[in-house]
Parts: sequence; structure tokens; C-alpha cells
Amino acid sequence: MRILEGKTLSAEILASLPARIDAVKARLGRAPSLAIVNYFADSPSAVYVKRKIAACEKLGIKTELFAPKPEEGYEAFKTLLARLGADQAYDAIMLERPLPDGFETMETWDSLPAAKDVDGLSSLNMGRLFIAKKFTEIENGGFFSPCTALAVVRLMKFHGLNPAGTNIAVVGRSAVVGRPLAHMLTTLDATVTLCHTRTRDLPAVLKASDLVITAAGKAKWLKKEMLPAGATVIDVGTNFDENGKMCGDADFEDLKGTASAVSPVPGGVGPVTLACLLEASVKAAELTPKNEKKGIIFT
Ligand code: NAP
Repeated sequence: MRILEGKTLSAEILASLPARIDAVKARLGRAPSLAIVNYFADSPSAVYVKRKIAACEKLGIKTELFAPKPEEGYEAFKTLLARLGADQAYDAIMLERPLPDGFETMETWDSLPAAKDVDGLSSLNMGRLFIAKKFTEIENGGFFSPCTALAVVRLMKFHGLNPAGTNIAVVGRSAVVGRPLAHMLTTLDATVTLCHTRTRDLPAVLKASDLVITAAGKAKWLKKEMLPAGATVIDVGTNFDENGKMCGDADFEDLKGTASAVSPVPGGVGPVTLACLLEASVKAAELTPKNEKKGIIFT
């Protein structure tokens, strides 16, 4: 079984950043800066928050972690976002999920100035993503796309998996992963079936697919009997098993002998997502006008 690892690609993306960071420092007179808002210290994303901060520090991107408490309420959350949005000390804002119940609203995403919204969740960024017809417009456009979805496509390209003309099942329809990913893959000429908990006969859909991408967030739910022989699986899931060990949505051991290629967890999509976030943070700093407030519309 081929392992679709993400560490090499992650290192390549990160290696492209120091020259860009130096150019930002020369222009703005300070390092690029990223504000991270994380509510739950015990969530899967918290593992990556620590890695993001360490990777930023290593490269010279300034980070600050904000860890509000759910009981402080939604108004305090919005006030925090407004403050970070207006503060010229931050080029980029990353809002980690999960958020407390009721906090994931359109109003929340649009509290993020589009020019700082490095995970591409605000209406302007989402709108630009979904209007794009070609993947090059998404990669090179002056807007931000959800880092995880972008990371999956980049990981596929890195391993020579060409979506054109293939049938791809994406399991999970969240605004952060499944839906933007399905769109990105269609811009690359794949035919995508977007699956969820109400999909009828999910194994039949998976068996009819050339590639399965799972972003369900259910530890080891994907077993070999649900897949066609020789399947390729990209695993976005970040879960913890009964022993507290990080694992994906795919039952990696079970797939051995059936699947032809699988991305591991950890070490697959995760490191690439991290690199995409750092790259987006540098891009946000590059878009920051010197001594000027960022407007909502940017190029
Ligand atoms: P989410 O918002 O909870 O969405 C999960 C989606 O999966 C939903 O659409 C849900 O369907 C669907 N689903 C859940 N169980 C299913 C099942 N048994 N069969 C079919 N569909 C099922 O999660 P998310 O934020 O998209 O994240 C998904 C996973 O990716 C999580 O494990 C998360 O930690 C991980 N993640 C990893 C990275 C990374 O860098 N590797 C980054 C972000 C997220 P319904 O809509 O019908 O409920």
C-alpha cells in the first residue's frame, strides 16, 4: 500500500516562505503576524495549534494565541474578532474549530475582515472561491480558501493523483472541508459526489468511486468492505482512538491489503494544512498596505 505522506510537501511549502517573510519585514518593518483563536484546549485542532505556533516561531512569523472561555458568551467573542480585525498588528486571523454551540454563524465568519481571513470562511472569500472556474484562479487569486481543502488538492497533486475525469467521493459536507474541497475538485474536472450522514447506501457510492476522501471526524469508521479493491483514500479526519492515540477516519490497519494508496494520520493532510496556513498568513502580510488600514475589498 502506497503511503500518501504529507511531510515532504509541507517542508517544501515552508521552505518557500523565508524569502517572502524577509520581503514583508523589509516593507512593513515588522514580521508577518497571525492571531489564533482557539476555544477548546482538548480538541483535535488544539494539537495542531501548538504545531502551528512552533512552526511560525521557527520561520519568524509572529503569533498570538487567544483562548476565550465559552461562558464569556457570543458578544465577547464578536468583540474579540472585531478587535483583532481592526488591529493593524495582525495580518492574519485563524479561527480554530470547534467553536462553542451557536457560535458558527454567518455573522461570525463575516466578522473576519476578508483580507485577514486566512482560512477563507468569510462571504467574500467563499464567494470568490465558488465563482472560480479554474483551480489556478483559486491557487493564485488574491483571496483565501479553506486551508484543509487546499491541502488535500495539493497533496493529491504532489503524489501524482490527477482528478481530471475521475469519480471522487468526498465524505463530509462542512463549509470548512467537504464543500470547498468538492468545488476545488470540480474545477480540476473531477466528478464529485458529496456524501454525508443522510447519504443512502454510502458503501455503494464509495465502491463506485476512483478516490475516496473522508472528512467525517469519526475514528476508523472507513473499513475495507466499504471500498473497491485497489482504492485510493485521502484521510482528513483527526480523531483520537480508545487509547488516546491520534487516528484518522480510515481504519489504516484494516485497509492494508485492499487499498492501493492511503494518506496516514498523523503525517498526511495535517502537515500540509499547517503549511498552507503559514503560507496564507505570509500572503495576508504581503497584502497588508504599509501604514494603512486594510479595507474589506482586496485584490
Ligand atoms: P464537521 O463539521 O463535524 O462535519 C463532518 C461531516 O461529516 C458532516 O457533513 C457529517 O454529515 C459527515 N459525517 C459524519 N459522520 C458521517 C458518517 N458516518 N457517514 C457519512 N458522513 C458523515 O467536521 P469538519 O470540521 O469538516 O472536520 C472533519 C474532520 O476533519 C474532523 O476529524 C476534523 O478534526 C478534521 N480536520 C482535519 C484537518 C487537518 O488539517 N487534517 C483540518 C480540519 C478538520 P452531516 O452534515 O449529515 O452531519
